[in-house]
Amino acid sequence: MDILKKRILQDGKCYEGGILKVDSFINHQMDPMLMHKIAQEFVTRFKNERINKIVTIEASGIAPAIMVGYLMQLPVVFVKKKQPKTMENMLTTTVHSFTKDRDYTVCISNNFLTPEDHVLFIDDFLAYGNAALGMIDLINKSGATLSGMGFIIEKAFQDGGKILREKDVHVESLAIIDDLSNCEIKIR
Ligand code: 5GP
Repeated sequence: MDILKKRILQDGKCYEGGILKVDSFINHQMDPMLMHKIAQEFVTRFKNERINKIVTIEASGIAPAIMVGYLMQLPVVFVKKKQPKTMENMLTTTVHSFTKDRDYTVCISNNFLTPEDHVLFIDDFLAYGNAALGMIDLINKSGATLSGMGFIIEKAFQDGGKILREKDVHVESLAIIDDLSNCEIKIR
């Protein structure tokens, strides 16, 4: 997706440890016009999959997920990072956060992720795949079916994409970063 690649090269900043900062258009300040184009691209790439629900993890996945849900006219559910006392039929899993370097328990209600659901998972980044694997665990626990996983940015020098594709998951990443060494952004 050329417009996204150009924007990453123009406004992205890279940090020690293979972290790409895109907080001027995705992670803090957001560009809804770009997000709309991102969502249109996801709709095109997953048009042959059977999907009746979009799922993401708070917080940065919510903006692209809701745009995709709006375009596909489907409900959007987000996995929560704090467990509300009031959640009914809670399913949980543990996810290791790459950027915060800690484990946390995430949850979703089985009321909103059910055996009837065919899920498209949307997130901002794919790094080591921990969030995505946590999502697969929740989908398995719920009895739902995974139809695909879409990421705005995949860092190909970390292993998440390889792990998911080896599991035969339909993965689509709109910008693939091959390298961030020496703080130089190399996009495929
Ligand atoms: P993973 O679970 O695949 O290891 O990491 C994905 C999650 O970590 C994403 O949801 C994203 O929030 C965060 N993340 C991983 N790498 C980066 C990065 O380079 N930049 C930013 N901004 N977030 C990242």
